Amino acid sequence: MPQVVVAEPSVQRTAENTVVRVDVTVPGSPPRTVEYVLPPLAVHRQQVIDAMFVVGRLVAMREGWRLVLPGPVSARLLDRAEIMQDMFLEWHPASMKPIPLDFEVAEPLDLPSGRGAISTFTGGVDSFYTVLENREQLDGLLFIHGLDIPLEETDFRARVSKELVAAAADIGLPLVQVETNVRQLTNPYASWGKKAHGAILSSVGILLAERFDTFFVPGSRLRSTVRGLGWGSHVLIDRLNSTDYLSVVHDAVDVTRHSKTARIAESATALRYLRVCYSSQSEFNCGTCPKCRRTQLDLDLVGVTDTERIFAECVPIEDVLAQFEIPAPGALNFARQTVRVARTKDRADIVQALLHAIHQYEAAVVTKEAIRLRWTLRRYPEFVEAFPPRQRKPKKPRHAPPPQPPPPTLRAVIAHRLPDFVAGPLRQLVRRTRGAKSSVLGRPRADHL
Ligand SMILES: [Zn+2]
Repeated sequence: MPQVVVAEPSVQRTAENTVVRVDVTVPGSPPRTVEYVLPPLAVHRQQVIDAMFVVGRLVAMREGWRLVLPGPVSARLLDRAEIMQDMFLEWHPASMKPIPLDFEVAEPLDLPSGRGAISTFTGGVDSFYTVLENREQLDGLLFIHGLDIPLEETDFRARVSKELVAAAADIGLPLVQVETNVRQLTNPYASWGKKAHGAILSSVGILLAERFDTFFVPGSRLRSTVRGLGWGSHVLIDRLNSTDYLSVVHDAVDVTRHSKTARIAESATALRYLRVCYSSQSEFNCGTCPKCRRTQLDLDLVGVTDTERIFAECVPIEDVLAQFEIPAPGALNFARQTVRVARTKDRADIVQALLHAIHQYEAAVVTKEAIRLRWTLRRYPEFVEAFPPRQRKPKKPRHAPPPQPPPPTLRAVIAHRLPDFVAGPLRQLVRRTRGAKSSVLGRPRADHL
């Protein structure tokens, strides 16, 4: 069986940072060095192995390869590994395969209890809500470079980092910053949104466990809308990344986007530093992408209409509604939630615009499905008999020559040439007549017509 091999990790700690490096070999690819640059803190070998188990199994499950680790896995993590695997196989039967889970069980790490709690923090609505609601419990906020902003975007990362440090200071918490290239390992095998992001966030939480024993992942979707749907960070699976020494908490899964927006609208810090846009790598919030538009609508519904400071390009809410589109199923759920809220607030303009967008999205989905079904059913003779394929008209050539005028009739030719027939003999007659003016009959031929 082909193997995904995780080599012995190296951990280097200096006064400035702690760098964790692990070489990972995946069948058919050259070895890749996964790197995590953390603040200066102690990282036990066991933590690196557990982090690489969480990330490496996503890669191995792509083809059902064996995952080979340099040591045993945390008992709590391993205990739930089969449930995690079953969840992924249920959600992604075509693109994930089971892997052997016969790993050795590690001895518990000797870390003191009550080390503190940290929450991931990008500056978005979900992040701010989790931070504001759990402020007393939290001891730090975490921003990870190299996930939503690529490592190469150094200028934009520096700008976001500066703003998030200021936001965290306003809230009264330190911002822990980590850099990682781990997406270069996972991206070819596990999509960021549908499979990988919860595991990658947890891998960073595991490496920070010397300082924190609880790791909050702000939930982005309602429990009622994720039932049966796979997503990389999910109420059902994030907690399965907990280890003997770290609890992973998927937060606020029963709070609607509207309630979260209403909560953050009470915070001047949140409104000042809000960052919801993943489309722009130069502006905090571009103001034109679907997520920015949706957030402007949510803010309008909770009474925040002065959004010029939040969005780089701020258009009137009427224009947002006129151009509102639903790009994906997730946005459809948010649109339905917003319609429910808008009805209770008598916002007929929002209800009407969103229902229009919902109907357009649903019509596109139904059309696509109908076309797919039609092609599938053509394989079955009964269907072809019942619904014979339409006879198509022969296609016109793409670049047809311009239509030619019909050939002139004999009558038209005579009518056209008649003045010449008449004028010729007349000219000869005039030339013969002394003193006559040739101009009388010498006009251009066109005048005769
Ligand atoms: Zn945007």
